[in-house]
Amino acid sequence: MKTALITGVTGQDGSYLAELLLSKGYKVYGLRRRTSTPNYENVRHIHDQIEWISGDLTDLASLIEAVRSAEPDEVYNLAAQSYVAASWPQPLATGHMTALSVTNMLEAVRIVKPNTRFYQASSSEMFGKVVETPQKETTPFYPRSPYGVAKVYGHWITVNYRESFNLYACSGILFNHESPRRGLEFVTRKVTDAVARIKLGLQHELRMGNLEALRDWGFAGDYVKAMWLMLQQNEPDDYVISTGETHSVRELLEVAFSYVDLNYEDYVVIDPKFVRPAEVDLLLGDCAKAKQNLGWEPEISFEKLIHMMIDEDLKRVRAEMKYNDALSKALI
Ligand code: GDP
Repeated sequence: MKTALITGVTGQDGSYLAELLLSKGYKVYGLRRRTSTPNYENVRHIHDQIEWISGDLTDLASLIEAVRSAEPDEVYNLAAQSYVAASWPQPLATGHMTALSVTNMLEAVRIVKPNTRFYQASSSEMFGKVVETPQKETTPFYPRSPYGVAKVYGHWITVNYRESFNLYACSGILFNHESPRRGLEFVTRKVTDAVARIKLGLQHELRMGNLEALRDWGFAGDYVKAMWLMLQQNEPDDYVISTGETHSVRELLEVAFSYVDLNYEDYVVIDPKFVRPAEVDLLLGDCAKAKQNLGWEPEISFEKLIHMMIDEDLKRVRAEMKYNDALSKALI
């Protein structure tokens, strides 16, 4: 039986990856940071199948202890401050959690169990103000946010530990990937949640930032398969994971509102609060290398992804309404 340690296991990607590894018979350890109000929403259905280890990515001693007790064959380093817009007001915290913590995790592996295979969650945000289109593994980075800058550090320290210490360390440069488990602050989920609330009469407008930004959006459930595949090869390497299609935020609105027979123009209000100090205008990935070497391909289309997210949000919002209704009746 193989053993994996996942950081960020309660997040969107961590939860899909944990499901995938459990289905393959792995023993899965999840690193959890102590908080007074933990959120296990994404892993509620598999909570009992995960071995939980307390630790903090900014605390090397706790990571050394985590690797010592889990003795993992594979480490998936997914934890980070992952919301781009939050990285301007908190650039240093983002630097600690998204950049330096990668070195902590790599050091824990190097010191305790250097034959562990290591996956680093890199990001298409590293391409930022893109210098070529489509973006591939050899495209130079030009990050446009403290988050993007921190991810560039995480990427290069992973490459450096591979080259310096001969670790099996891979960096997956994943383009935006979404799902019904995506945080509500990200644009896809913000839109699908609002569409459900508007359709059910609970919300009447949607405040948005830049509608012209273009993104290559895929399904998180497809993308975690690529993470796993990267750690099953003969040689470690870095891979772009993307769909090869790009859509604007405006198209996202069109697809989402029209799915429930509404026109986005009747509800969307532009609010400068959601416009960023520096924008990434266009992301479009070329994942030919992953197709060739890993045999990986995305399965869920953009439209299907957005429809699936709206279906789930409608279900959840209806259940909330029913619960609130029952509660108010019980209180009368
Ligand atoms: P990112 O690509 O990692 O920054 O993912 P996001 O989902 O946060 O944002 C994707 C794009 O949507 C960015 O170009 C944002 O500027 C744009 N966008 C436009 N309006 C909004 C909004 O209200 N919220 C968010 N999160 N993004 C928005």
